[in-house]
Amino acid sequence: MERILIIEDEKDMVTGLKFNLEASGFTVLAAYDGEEGYKLALEKQPDLIILDLMLPKRNGYDVCRSLKQEIPQIPIVMLTARGEEADIVLGLELGADDYITKPFSVLELIARIKSVLRRTKSGTQIPEKYRFGNLEVDFKKYDARKKGKPITLSPREYEILKYFVEKQGEIVSREDLLNAVWGYESFPNTRTVDTHIAKLRQKIEDKPDDPQHVITIHGIGYKFLG
Ligand code: CA
Repeated sequence: MERILIIEDEKDMVTGLKFNLEASGFTVLAAYDGEEGYKLALEKQPDLIILDLMLPKRNGYDVCRSLKQEIPQIPIVMLTARGEEADIVLGLELGADDYITKPFSVLELIARIKSVLRRTKSGTQIPEKYRFGNLEVDFKKYDARKKGKPITLSPREYEILKYFVEKQGEIVSREDLLNAVWGYESFPNTRTVDTHIAKLRQKIEDKPDDPQHVITIHGIGYKFLG
């Protein structure tokens, strides 16, 4: 049974979450301030941590930063206040694996938790070097080759490709790509995604107008076949 640690000072919130998570088959631990949460996380090594930002004693950022140094393999889902994009960006920079904005639906939170657990458990951590078709991409060194010859991808194109590799075979919407690759620093529209995909195809596909790797799913988005 997977164990989830909730670090949140609002007692009613903890009670509600605990009830619902237990009903979904999780074992739940709770801590009501940052210091206690940090200690409990190290001691109990849960499968996932739900971490509120505004906490007594140590705030969520501080706890997140420390936990990601000590136990980086344990995923953290952050609870943030509505519309605080700056909070979200900072949280993700500190290594949080996902976030959910208050007020949220418990069902959505549970769906996110399951998805984060799937992602971290199934080892979909993508390898540094990834080969597909006649391409070879080194995500760490930002080096890409097609038929052995270097090709130049922008950092954004690496990010897109990385996301595709993680989600390969799944349908990825333009909004998913925007959230994952552009994040919350800026608000480009979904056309931006299409423009970048078109450029990426020019670089990686043998026939960009008949793509074999980045497939268009009409009305929705894309599917990557590696
Ligand atoms: Ca709080």
